[in-house]
Amino acid sequence: MEGEMTPEEMEKKKQMVLSTCTCKSCPSWVECDEAGGYCFAPIGKSACITEEKGCICGGCPVYAQMDLKHGYYCTKGSEKEQAGM
Ligand code: SF4
Ligand code: SF4
Repeated sequence: MEGEMTPEEMEKKKQMVLSTCTCKSCPSWVECDEAGGYCFAPIGKSACITEEKGCICGGCPVYAQMDLKHGYYCTKGSEKEQAGM
């Protein structure tokens, strides 16, 4: 999916994901120099979140918009990664 996007479209999508992401309200959130958006393959896993204390991705607008199926993107990797793509 992302592979068909131009760099400009990719950047636009990344900014949309980051500005909509609800990870900062999640019980698993750890404050570091990250901004969420872990479901999006070019961002991927978190380097600072390691403990799974709940995931609120299912209620995030990006989840519906991008037709996501998984969760715990911060610890398990992006939608693509978890889908084995
Ligand atoms: S689905 Fe989860 S990781 Fe993706 S933007 Fe929303 S809250 Fe963040
Ligand atoms: S990916 Fe899910 S578990 Fe991880 S911080 Fe975001 S909402 Fe929480």
